[in-house]
Amino acid sequence: MDEIRIENLEVYCHHGVLKEENVLGQKFLVSLVLYTDTKKAGVSDDLAFSIDYAELSHFAEKRMKEKNYKLLEAAAEHLAEDILMDFPMVKKIRVELKKPWAPILLPLDTVCVRIEREWVPVYLSVGSNMGNRKENIEAALRALKQDKKISSLTASKLIETEPYGYTDQAKFLNGAVGFYTLYSPEELLEKIHEIEKEGKRERNIHWGPRTIDLDILLFGNRIIQSESLTIPHREMHLRQFVLQPLSEIAPWAVHPLLHRTVSELAENVKEEKP
Ligand code: ADP
Ligand code: MG
Repeated sequence: MDEIRIENLEVYCHHGVLKEENVLGQKFLVSLVLYTDTKKAGVSDDLAFSIDYAELSHFAEKRMKEKNYKLLEAAAEHLAEDILMDFPMVKKIRVELKKPWAPILLPLDTVCVRIEREWVPVYLSVGSNMGNRKENIEAALRALKQDKKISSLTASKLIETEPYGYTDQAKFLNGAVGFYTLYSPEELLEKIHEIEKEGKRERNIHWGPRTIDLDILLFGNRIIQSESLTIPHREMHLRQFVLQPLSEIAPWAVHPLLHRTVSELAENVKEEKP
């Protein structure tokens, strides 16, 4: 990706753990690497196709002064998020915050925190087999769309499928959604659980009836195995009711462990079914 860099923007503000820092304030240096595509602006010589770095610098200064954080980490985290949310052309950002006057009673050049944050493409499966199934799914999609840390949501058509696992229950409506997010995988799981709770999902029988079920299928090309999360989803490559809708919105997404595209995986599952 192309880069636009702002280096050592001087901002006087009041972040710090010590009370003296909050009262007196000190100089901070803000360096930003904005990852973007400059091709169109380069060819057309038109600022409308690029990021206005003057506007962005003033935005950064305002955000740095608006609130006092104890930690450079927190100031950097919020600044990265705010820029990613307000400047859609910035796909990824590196934020570097330096404190040249850090009061540690020793001479130093600067102390510095550097982070990188980005909009990550994510795919979820959605399913419902209780109550008004279509409305349950639509309510979940609305909740996702309203979230500022989720953008460019696309949804597949919904398909009706026979129950899986515990089969003595009503038919499902299943679909897939894709979007970009600023959440970490764990934060997204929490968000999904909130939406399921709002949809009155009760966790009774494993694989049993549910008003709404949201699962994370792919999270960028991340591979995660923790107590609460398995990504890519453990069974996505085996389930036609997952792969068929997913291949409608993301045929070329690649499963980072199986190294197969979603459309290849969907074809394979179809062939295995009699
Ligand atoms: P299932 O989706 O398998 O029918 P649940 O929706 O009740 O069952 O999920 C049970 C737990 O599975 C969640 O609380 C979550 O911690 C865990 N889990 C593991 N990997 C994932 C994933 N990729 N997406 C969603 N939940 C996951
Ligand atoms: Mg689930």
